[in-house]
Amino acid sequence: MVSEKANKIGESPTLKITAKAKAMKAEGIDVIDLSVGEPDFATPENVKQAGVRAIEENFTKYTQNDGIPDLKEAIIKRLKEDQSLDYAKNQIIASTGAKSSLYHLIQALINEGDEVIIPAPYWVTYPHAVSLANGKSVIVPTKEENGFLLTPDELKSAVTPATKALILNNPSNPTGAAYPRHALEALAEVVLEEDIYVIADEIYEKLVYDDFRFHSFASLGQEIKKKTIVINGVSKTYSMTGWRIGFAAGPADVINGMAKIQSHSTSNPCSISQKASLEALRGPQYDVSKMVAEFQRRRNYALMRLQSLPDVSCHKPQGAFYLFPNFSSTYGKEFNNTAIRNSYGLAYYLLKEARVAIVPGDAFGADDCIRISYATSMENLEKGLDRIIGAVSALKTAKKTKRISLNNFQTRVTASVPVDASISINMRDALVSEMEDTLSFANYFEWNANINGVIVQLRTNVSHLNDFWIENWYPAQLEADLEPHGIIYAVEGIAGREPRAFYNSETKTGILVNTDNYSPLRSLALGLVMDVSERLFSTYTFRGMSADRNGQGFVLIGPKGTKKSELFYALLQDKELRLHSNDILFIRFSGGRVLADSIERKLLIPTQVVEFFPRLAPLFDNSKCENVIMRKDNCQDSDCLRMDDCRLDRGSPFCYTASKKSVSLLDPYWIEGSAKHIKRTQLQWIFLLRFDTTSPPAVKMEGEDALRILESGENPGSLTAMGPSTSQPFYNPHLLLTSPERIDYQKNFFRELLEHTHCYLINSGVATAEDIQQLIERESQPENDE
Ligand code: PMP
Repeated sequence: MVSEKANKIGESPTLKITAKAKAMKAEGIDVIDLSVGEPDFATPENVKQAGVRAIEENFTKYTQNDGIPDLKEAIIKRLKEDQSLDYAKNQIIASTGAKSSLYHLIQALINEGDEVIIPAPYWVTYPHAVSLANGKSVIVPTKEENGFLLTPDELKSAVTPATKALILNNPSNPTGAAYPRHALEALAEVVLEEDIYVIADEIYEKLVYDDFRFHSFASLGQEIKKKTIVINGVSKTYSMTGWRIGFAAGPADVINGMAKIQSHSTSNPCSISQKASLEALRGPQYDVSKMVAEFQRRRNYALMRLQSLPDVSCHKPQGAFYLFPNFSSTYGKEFNNTAIRNSYGLAYYLLKEARVAIVPGDAFGADDCIRISYATSMENLEKGLDRIIGAVSALKTAKKTKRISLNNFQTRVTASVPVDASISINMRDALVSEMEDTLSFANYFEWNANINGVIVQLRTNVSHLNDFWIENWYPAQLEADLEPHGIIYAVEGIAGREPRAFYNSETKTGILVNTDNYSPLRSLALGLVMDVSERLFSTYTFRGMSADRNGQGFVLIGPKGTKKSELFYALLQDKELRLHSNDILFIRFSGGRVLADSIERKLLIPTQVVEFFPRLAPLFDNSKCENVIMRKDNCQDSDCLRMDDCRLDRGSPFCYTASKKSVSLLDPYWIEGSAKHIKRTQLQWIFLLRFDTTSPPAVKMEGEDALRILESGENPGSLTAMGPSTSQPFYNPHLLLTSPERIDYQKNFFRELLEHTHCYLINSGVATAEDIQQLIERESQPENDE
């Protein structure tokens, strides 16, 4: 398993889209790539030659870790000549690209919890670099009408005592906005007043148009220079992205910190590239002016084309090589009945339908816009814009169809809660009075559920829990003086307590504190019911997924990671099978038969099962749901996030597979009426699941062997599909009490159950639904008539 950090961090969307465009080209698809983040010009000849010379002169060994002295001198000279800035060598570091300087700078500057102000739209790397240093990004949106420039007031209101730095990218990727001197001075005032650092990413410094005069933030004065670290490099100015040389200039202590970190990460930047960069910085600069003139020509052209679109606005950029037009007027429109909802959806549409790669603005924190790079030939630019304009014009205003608005409740708490099932009477009394003090008349819900004949009363101040509770169970008789067998308090707003569940068996009291999530409540109720019904009615309860075939039932039992659900729903595809229960079975033995009851009015089903049983999706649309993902930001499916084909982007208002935690309360009769659901079955087969690659698909089990596996609650296979499994007696997480007496009770029950059923150990790593079906079919045939 990779670390949380690695799992959480998003890949660079620019690189991803550029890679996609390249892959499409490789397949022979004529894609125009307007997503690129690098100049499309050749590295100047003199620079290449300097690289070749470095190789010939065997300058191919480690160098000083913070850069060769000659290169530092050339950097110092450039900063002096261009910006009248004075730096000493210990205030300069050369790195493997500006990105590497930036990364090391943030590592050197930011402590855990420090805040870094990042004006949006921002270059995608900034927030990730901050979070990798355990800092906190404070994103400050800038306004299109202000030319995407950060204003002093916006900066001021984002500063808190935890603010350590501002990242100012001038000119900006992705907007191309460039700050005139007076705008920088106004920001500098706030910076000095608040005493924060400025990370001035000036990598596009030379790429400015319309006679714009660029000023480095550090050049505004001696005081501001002490608080500024300039980031720059040769990538963009000299069309040298692949050579990987960037640099930073700033206070000696900060640069020294960066050098130490760099010495342990990349060591020195590439020796050959350092020599080439030296030549680039020192040598003639006319290639730069040629490139700038060409970029300006393309910018003017692309801007003119975009401005011809009636509902698209595009700020005129004065730097870099990007346009950042606002295409939000296309959101809500559709093509082939698929609506475009956001910049990712538009990017996907343009790539698939128009064969143009652009970068969605959401990647830069501005979902209304897209980024179009003009670092490509004029010919490509013309073609690309033709295609974009054509594709956008082909979009139709969506028909006014009624949108499904999902009945979905987002809970505050989503994790399961720890359960203390052995609290004393005194503790129970104290907790109950704490709960009752918080429950007020104005916000009190009470409802008796009949759970297999056991009456459980819910007392709660959480209307969502009450709502799901009523939906989940059959009601108990409405008698005014009815005494429930057990009571559950589910109370939110208890000060100073973490989400937690408690249970006292003597009084049959369950207590659920500070959680609004339904699953822990249901689980506590089932635990309570098991406790009551085993003592009172000699019924037994166990956990499994069961179905019926012509009056004969089977159940799948197994721990997490044995693909129980996948197998179960694959089996259910069989028309003759009827769903019995997806989680819990109540059993009674009657005249040698094993009667299994499904006692829930509605079944709580993880919405992810639509992957295996798509028929449920339209039923979930009309059921009560909890924690279904409705925004891409909340998606927890890291594999899916890496792909472009996100259904949330492509018009779906929600996604059933984006989280393992989303559930729906489904009326099982909705699937196909009584053809697909049955409340009682006569259990014939117990299928215990294991998961590995080598064991046989099905092995017949004898009672005591099966019992041992069940009691251990461990995965009897050598693997799981999801990493290590935890053991759970009888694979039953609802079992509240695990005293020896209770375990014995369960054992006796399973012993009896196994005497009356056929038990198989199924290896779900190799066995398919068909294998199980065949086994059932074989055994359900009447006895051989030999
Ligand atoms: N800063 C910004 C704003 C950029 O756009 C880029 C490149 N896309 C960089 C830094 C990194 O440049 P380098 O190639 O020197 O790492």
